[in-house]
Amino acid sequence: SKKLILILGDQLDIASPALKNIDIAVDAILMVESANEAQYVWSHKAKIALFVSAMRHFAKQLEQQGLSLIYIKQSTKTIAENLKVELVKGKFTHLICVEPGEWRLKQAIEAVASEVGIELEMQEDTHFYCSREEFSAWVANKKELRLEYFYRLMRKKHGILVDGEGNPEGGQWNFDKDNRKPFPKKGPGLINPPELFDPDDITRGVLAEVEKRYPDHPGSLANFQWPVTRKQALQALQCFVEHRLATFGIHEDAMWTGTPFGWHSLLSSSLNLKLLNPREVISAVLGAWKKYDLDIATVEGFIRQILGWREFVRGMYYLDMPQMAKDNFYQHQNKLPAWYWSGDTKMHCMKATIGQTLEYGYAHHIQRLMVTGNFALLAEILPKEVCDWYLAIYIDAIEWVELPNTAGMALFASGGRFTSKPYIASGAYIKRMSNYCDSCHYKPDVRFGETACPMTNLYWNFLIKHRKQFEASPRTRLMTANLARISEPDQKAIQIHAKALLANLDSV
Ligand code: FAD
Ligand code: SF4
Repeated sequence: SKKLILILGDQLDIASPALKNIDIAVDAILMVESANEAQYVWSHKAKIALFVSAMRHFAKQLEQQGLSLIYIKQSTKTIAENLKVELVKGKFTHLICVEPGEWRLKQAIEAVASEVGIELEMQEDTHFYCSREEFSAWVANKKELRLEYFYRLMRKKHGILVDGEGNPEGGQWNFDKDNRKPFPKKGPGLINPPELFDPDDITRGVLAEVEKRYPDHPGSLANFQWPVTRKQALQALQCFVEHRLATFGIHEDAMWTGTPFGWHSLLSSSLNLKLLNPREVISAVLGAWKKYDLDIATVEGFIRQILGWREFVRGMYYLDMPQMAKDNFYQHQNKLPAWYWSGDTKMHCMKATIGQTLEYGYAHHIQRLMVTGNFALLAEILPKEVCDWYLAIYIDAIEWVELPNTAGMALFASGGRFTSKPYIASGAYIKRMSNYCDSCHYKPDVRFGETACPMTNLYWNFLIKHRKQFEASPRTRLMTANLARISEPDQKAIQIHAKALLANLDSV
């Protein structure tokens, strides 16, 4: 037999099961930089550069190990088209790959294999703790799927933060309520900097190429300092657990102008490209917990993101695709305001979050969920438009993780399938968690009129509009209780203001 082993741009793991039984004498590895992949969504320049640079570094490593590699640079054809050509040209008998993270690619690879009539061995992705079968078994016939129960199961199964009897360390499964503090009023003070990496020769070449090929794409390359190799990703992990983890939890949700990274780990892109394995991240965090006697709330809060959320959304993605991409619970149809691509808005929270996103391809979870996501939901934007933006603009965006977070969590597009209520908030929340409102054109506590904060106005408008539905469920009943304190004429004024605002989103 003669095998072709396909390695995708987000499968840069030298320990990949696809490489296990490679016969160096006859088999070959195929890697494709597809310009088509960069263009089917309008990607941030830094996201394109990260994928291409990490792929080229990985290719170099494969070649150094003496493996036979077909590496196709900046092809204008799709991955599937290239795959078909190479399979036929090389007279391969078997196609080997790890199951792709993206549903669309999985379909495309299966289609090529059946067209060419070749045996396809699509291996399970062992990068994750929870296999797709295990997730489906957990789902069984549950109607409501909630992270908390899945997460507890993962903790017990893998013996993470549980004592000998299976009880949670610290006496609680979840310390979320301890992890929601804003920065002090005078600012975050000194934050230990993350480990950043100056571009090497390969990356510099890629940056120049991306600038030349994709001049119109959004985002900047000026601050490109992301890990592009496994060695760098391990360094970034080490720096995080040594210098930044201790303060991660308590300020996890805090936001501050000019503080793009807070205490966050910046490990998502390395994890998603598979330069890092989640097991080594969790093991490093547990090691630091013991070594420095860290607060359990911080350690649990961080581990929940990786062992809980990351695994949970992946399970949900494969369970609900392709329907998840079409879900639109509220039937929202508005267009995404043009300033999502430029940050050119008078809303300071949005300007700051979008601004740093264009600069670095990064915003932390609360900025994504409660600033840009919250506004998109309140402004009744079509989920597809919002999802395309998130997929394009974040350095770590791959559909299996982007779509459930955006459509499912931020936009409640799948209804209550995997979150109990829509994550909506008014300007009061942004004011509490950040300093954005201090220098804003709008006033966070004004609901209508010239200085009304668009978040606040649209928040109340949303509650008025969906009042009946919110009151029907015990989970959301409390959210509308405060409406009783707003007079009828004021509620009318809120709705009139919102109508004008929604008709004019581009000039907010
Ligand atoms: P930290 O805050 O340091 O968290 C540690 C790790 O936990 C992250 O690196 C990530 O791997 C994992 N994690 C944390 N939250 C989540 C989550 N909700 N889902 C899955 N993994 C999580 N994450 C992506 O990796 N890619 C995306 O495309 C993406 N799109 C998002 C879109 C929206 C609307 C929202 C609300 C969240 C999205 N997230 C996405 C989740 C989360 O915001 C990012 O993983 C995180 O901000 C990355 O920064 P960090 O590495 O500093 O994370
Ligand atoms: Fe954002 Fe409103 Fe605060 Fe301005 S006032 S920063 S729009 S929440």
